[in-house]
Amino acid sequence: MHAYRLHTDYTLKCQCCAISQRFVFTSKSDVVVCGYCKPHYGSTPAKLGQQQREHAALYLNRLTQAAKQRNADQVKHRAELDHLERIIAEKDALIRQLEVELGDVHVSIRKGQFNEAVMSWLIDERLTQAGKESDAALRRRESQERRIADGSTNQGASIVKLHPH
Ligand SMILES: [Zn+2]
Ligand SMILES: [Zn+2]
Repeated sequence: MHAYRLHTDYTLKCQCCAISQRFVFTSKSDVVVCGYCKPHYGSTPAKLGQQQREHAALYLNRLTQAAKQRNADQVKHRAELDHLERIIAEKDALIRQLEVELGDVHVSIRKGQFNEAVMSWLIDERLTQAGKESDAALRRRESQERRIADGSTNQGASIVKLHPH
């Protein structure tokens, strides 16, 4: 017996393997035991032995899946980080180039070849823009690094969820 509504989606812990999953009850006499556990659910010594072996395999499989997912996430985060590093490097190069141009413009201005106000304004605009884009990329890199750091501190989480019984 259970107190859940029939024909309704619930996310519950299986009373046998303790893994949270989706349950839809069709009868008041249904047990809160997942489909995987039903064949070994019971109290005979043979069934208990089977239950332990199957749970060990189930938990190992869950852990392997969780580890694979975590590695895939980290690879993705690192790729994004590399991409941001390239943007920052490009913007840094552009800023250096513009600074050189700005120096050249000042030389030209001293020689009377340019309208100082117009040229300074143009280059300052480009410098400001490049600086803004570089700052934005740096901020994204920091949050990305935090996500990678968080990901590695959560490594034990999937193990904690699996209560043996
Ligand atoms: Zn189960
Ligand atoms: Zn079970």
